Amino acid sequence: MKFISTRNPSLRVNFEEALFQGLASDGGLFIPEEDLHLQQHFRAMDRKTSFQDIASLIAAYLMKGEIDAGGIQRIVRAAFPFEPKLVQMENGLSILELFHGPSSAFKDFGASFLAATMEEYLQNSARRAVILTATSGDTGSAVAQAFHNRRNVDVVILYPSGRVSPLQEKQLTTLGGNVLALEVKGSFDDCQRLVKEAFVDPVLKKALPLTSANSISLGRLIPQSFYYVWAFAQLKDRLEEELFFCVPSGNFGNLTAGVYAWKWGLPVTGFVAATNANDVVPQYLETGIYQPRPSVLTYSNAMDVGSPSNFERLEAVFQKNWNLMRAMIFGQTVTDAETLSTIREVYQDHNMFLCPHTAVGYQAAQRFREENRLDHAQLCVLATAHPAKFLDIVERATGKTPELPPGLAAAATKAKQAILVEPQLETISRLLLERLA
Ligand SMILES: *Cc1c(COP(=O)(O)O)cnc(C)c1O
Repeated sequence: MKFISTRNPSLRVNFEEALFQGLASDGGLFIPEEDLHLQQHFRAMDRKTSFQDIASLIAAYLMKGEIDAGGIQRIVRAAFPFEPKLVQMENGLSILELFHGPSSAFKDFGASFLAATMEEYLQNSARRAVILTATSGDTGSAVAQAFHNRRNVDVVILYPSGRVSPLQEKQLTTLGGNVLALEVKGSFDDCQRLVKEAFVDPVLKKALPLTSANSISLGRLIPQSFYYVWAFAQLKDRLEEELFFCVPSGNFGNLTAGVYAWKWGLPVTGFVAATNANDVVPQYLETGIYQPRPSVLTYSNAMDVGSPSNFERLEAVFQKNWNLMRAMIFGQTVTDAETLSTIREVYQDHNMFLCPHTAVGYQAAQRFREENRLDHAQLCVLATAHPAKFLDIVERATGKTPELPPGLAAAATKAKQAILVEPQLETISRLLLERLA
């Protein structure tokens, strides 16, 4: 299997190169060169098919010729000690809970698979890697947890001092071991700038095997396709007619992964692209005009993205054809007021807490069903984070406090270990050379 840049099909690499390069050298994103043909496999699956078996099947095709069957088993076992969970709501609506991993958000699936796969490749070639990443909160904790205790890898996380939530800070700074947390006296933009500077600094580049674990990495995108397949296998008995997935979206990595599963033969009727006020993609689907713009703040802040990085991958799937994309992806935009009322209503009617991102998806699914009179369709909403990660909004909507999942509760009691640093490359560089070279 080969992977090519969205900007140049002759820039071809294997999975390992795509993994360690992150971004293609021409600034494009890596995409699979060809579609997999997995219809037969999907048809044979049912409720007993395990998540790990689905992950192994797809991973084996993608890494064919690079990692053998034993290696695939090691990767999948190391990556997925946790699983998604499917909750049935009323008439054809279900919720795919993706927050049972170590950082209680769906990004654990991508980060954990990336980490386990890198570990396997590094082990095979006796190399090591230093993962350098900037975070404004959630992504960093998924990455830190995923790489914690992996062999041959060190992780350095830069986060802006005083600008992440107390719980997020605990998640980033209490792991220790091979995870080094740098608390930067500056903004998230400073952290990002420092990471970019470090990657092109000749001294650092020479002394350390620097690698990124960026959200646009193919190694984080691909594993998100696994749970669409798993959800299908779970729902298969109930499918009468159509199957739609409703995906709360920001950078559109999650939705793109679902579109890949469909391209590989999963019988999906369509995807609902649910956004908050940052509705560049729903606008495009309606008007045919793609107009990225600065993001605005909303309650579902992990989806506050004005220029979604994975749009380039979606365009490649649909051959830059608006009509083709519109036949498969349906936009829905949800306001902050609707987000709050949805959290409140779902709590009152079902005694269930939703995080604000999931609430956007839930409201979008309901509206999509009504607008299209989909009485017999199955609609599966992806639940992207645990409600306890967004306590203030959930409390404001319901007047109640969801309980912290065990992993978060444990992190909250541990002592912070971070090094406070000035926002200058010199400082960071000296520290990294001292500790890791
Ligand atoms: C990252 C994130 C999203 C958006 O996912 P994309 O793949 O960027 O579209 C939605 N919800 C939560 C909780 C997230 O952390």
